[in-house]
Amino acid sequence: MAKYTPMIEQYLSIKADAKDAFLFFRLGDFYEMFFDDAILASKELEITLTGREGGAAERIPMCGIPYHSAENYIHRLIEKGYKVAICEQVEDPSAAKGVVRREIVRVVTPGTVMDSRMSSEAANNYMVCLSVLDGQLGLSACDLSTGELYVTSFPHSNERLLDEMNIYTPSEILCDEELLPHVRQEFTLGKPVLTTSWLKSDDALVVRQFGDTAWSRLEAVRRRVVSRLVAYLNETQKRSLGQLTQIRSYEPEHFLILDPFTRRNLELVETVRERAKKGSLLWLLDQTETSMGARLLRRWIDKPLMQRAAIESRLEAVDKLFHQFIVREDIRKQLKEIYDLERLVGRVAFGNANGRDMIALRTSLQQIPALLELCLNSPSSTLRELAADVDSCTDVLSWIEAAVMDEPPISVRDGGLIRTGYDEHLDQLREANVNGKRWIADLERREREATGIKSLKIGFNKVFGYYIEVTKSQIGSLPEGRYERKQTLANAERYVTPELKSKESLILEAEEKMVDLEYSLFVQLRERIAAEITRLQKLAEKVAEVDVYQSLATVSAQHRMVKPVLTDGGDLIVKAGRHPVVEAVMNGGTFIANDTKLIRDEEQILLITGPNMAGKSTYMRQVALICIMAQMGCFVPAEQAEIPMIDRIFTRIGAADDLIGGQSTFMVEMMDIQVMTEKATPRSLVIIDELGRGTSTSEGMSIAQAVIEYVHDRIGCKALVSTHFHELAHLESSLGGLRNYCMAVQENGNDVTFLRKLIPGAASTSYGIYCARLAGLPELIIDRAYTLLQGFEYNEATHEGKEKVVREAAVAVEEGSLPMTQAAAPVEPMKVADQEADQRTGVVQLSIFGDEDFSSTKPVKKADPRAERVIASLQAADIMNMTPLQAMQLLNELKQQVKGLA
Ligand code: ADP
Repeated sequence: MAKYTPMIEQYLSIKADAKDAFLFFRLGDFYEMFFDDAILASKELEITLTGREGGAAERIPMCGIPYHSAENYIHRLIEKGYKVAICEQVEDPSAAKGVVRREIVRVVTPGTVMDSRMSSEAANNYMVCLSVLDGQLGLSACDLSTGELYVTSFPHSNERLLDEMNIYTPSEILCDEELLPHVRQEFTLGKPVLTTSWLKSDDALVVRQFGDTAWSRLEAVRRRVVSRLVAYLNETQKRSLGQLTQIRSYEPEHFLILDPFTRRNLELVETVRERAKKGSLLWLLDQTETSMGARLLRRWIDKPLMQRAAIESRLEAVDKLFHQFIVREDIRKQLKEIYDLERLVGRVAFGNANGRDMIALRTSLQQIPALLELCLNSPSSTLRELAADVDSCTDVLSWIEAAVMDEPPISVRDGGLIRTGYDEHLDQLREANVNGKRWIADLERREREATGIKSLKIGFNKVFGYYIEVTKSQIGSLPEGRYERKQTLANAERYVTPELKSKESLILEAEEKMVDLEYSLFVQLRERIAAEITRLQKLAEKVAEVDVYQSLATVSAQHRMVKPVLTDGGDLIVKAGRHPVVEAVMNGGTFIANDTKLIRDEEQILLITGPNMAGKSTYMRQVALICIMAQMGCFVPAEQAEIPMIDRIFTRIGAADDLIGGQSTFMVEMMDIQVMTEKATPRSLVIIDELGRGTSTSEGMSIAQAVIEYVHDRIGCKALVSTHFHELAHLESSLGGLRNYCMAVQENGNDVTFLRKLIPGAASTSYGIYCARLAGLPELIIDRAYTLLQGFEYNEATHEGKEKVVREAAVAVEEGSLPMTQAAAPVEPMKVADQEADQRTGVVQLSIFGDEDFSSTKPVKKADPRAERVIASLQAADIMNMTPLQAMQLLNELKQQVKGLA
């Protein structure tokens, strides 16, 4: 094996502990990478790959980045889903014997990013740990930057996992080895998510961190995931995790459950197409003034509540602020000046808050008393209670006010952090420093006088320290001996004198001491504040809550929303409901409001027919959004609304099919329906748009009917089902809880106006051709389509009409008036398996030829060219993929062809 230099040996031994990360190896002012790390990093970061002699025969691949711009490069690697291990020199290089000692001081991973630039302010950055124990799946999620730590568990199933993970959309996942393939397949689509199999845990650390009581309350699987997560954080961060102060354990069923599809379809936090916030419910509702308020609002949207009392309390605050414009505006004004307390406090505890963070914390804390005052004097009991037990942390504020300069530098090692008067020793050093500098300024004057050189000046640079500079033309006037030459420039010489040298060392020493002292005073202050983390976090939480209340009240007032009445019953009644987002983005147009009445046993399924573009899916989404808004404690876009506690909203809406997963649309639809049949309860709301459209008409219609019957008879939940099969309208007579509705349309010849009004009754057509015209198809096609439609409608005018056609065909077969020729190839009988499958799905295959055995040599009637044509058409017909209309048309054609045959 090649023998390397001691430094490379050191590198390799450290790298052995960070195999899955880029090792940033500190060498002077650079972080260097070697070997494979260097090759990969040079590609990923587009930096030059060089080489270095390392003792081996071949040069070692190497690339480096300046340490002061490292954050930027780390950011880029993390965004791509990598980890970066930072290895620093941990002893003074000038004092080191041999190779400087180095250690990994922190591993930065996507889920543990603390730099504010790397995480979106308005969203949490979660890392999640998953594990299965005795059939229970434990899930723990942590945002290290804000200190939130959640844990829950539920019976292990992929759907439940998907539902829950969607709340967090983590950037990093730790899990059992067995879960890894599934996790990688499901949760790493669309963005790079770092997934690691991680089994190490540290129970003792968790107990130390959160206390015995919190620990003992957790069930086994929850303990396991918290313990593993904390062990991982400890191992990667290698420092105190002071910002983690509380384990928030919860039951998923205490919240309204929304599956990932439903979240996406309802565009709760981002739009389906652009995946942008603009156009989502979050976008509409977000009038928060602080980042933590914005994040909390998002959490409320992600997890609407199920307990009426808790929702009522939120609604009470929103209601009072809704009616009190001035209080609301005052609160907003106060909130505007508050920075991201959660993350500031997180950085303080983590030990990477700088002077500017302290000033931001100071400014934020300064707003608190007035904010609390507003809440305490507000008419809302929710706000009063909230403010009553808030500790405004004025002591922390006074510490910062006393210690930190108004405009501190970014780096805590630069000095200029600490105020005069805060520390006596620091003041003395400053004094000495100022005096020293005055002495130097004085020296310049004295030297000019002594030498008579008016242009003589004293300067300073980092390499040579203080110097006396004289232009070349004046050098002759300098007296001999005392001046020692230090540096030669193009037209000047720089000198030092023993006197200047000794003063310089005094000044620099004082400066160094000053910077060191300031730094240590700053760290002391930071630690002192870190000890108050629990109080500060609680304060931040309350501020976020106030912010969300004012945001919801502001939006409710702007968009004419009303306070919903929550009920424990099962009926959902909305008067003049609107889709808040569609309405908000309509440029000048008027949104047409519609009522909704879902009454248990009477009218709990609405079967909505109507043409495309009539507003069916907008209407159905609006009902779901109204329920979600009500259960998160927000007003709703309606004139009046009575909302029962919904436990789960299930939507199957065609528009946004599984583009990423690559599944066929129909298969996805069926899988979703399967999940619905399993999960929906009588308290759920089910929304299905264009049920059964991905397959042939007869199959689609059959499936649609069967699903509706199941929802009606077995589940008994509230449901809105839209379909273009107006034939399904007959279900109203057989299903007591189903009502037909349609979107009103005004017809005028071939012109159609969508009224967007939901009215009782079923539509009689789908207006597909009208839509085709709107889309700009050539008139020739449109006219032809209308002509053909007339023909079809004539044939399918009545059920009897259809039956007649089929009956005639059957008779023709019976009578043997459809002749065969010996020359014709026998039709391949359908495979048995296919037949069975079709019988299961309820599709009956009509065997036109009865049970005839075509392979028999039984004599058949004489060949006739017309009969041959009929047989050829039949053989060519792809019956499996025909709609009933097409089949009918075929039969009609066949009948024309056999006219007059004996
Ligand atoms: P469908 O599902 O019937 O095909 P959509 O719900 O997609 O129809 O609605 C089509 C368009 O009609 C929407 O994009 C929206 O702009 C408009 N729209 C829908 N409902 C309304 C309404 N109630 N008032 C005004 N415009 C509406």
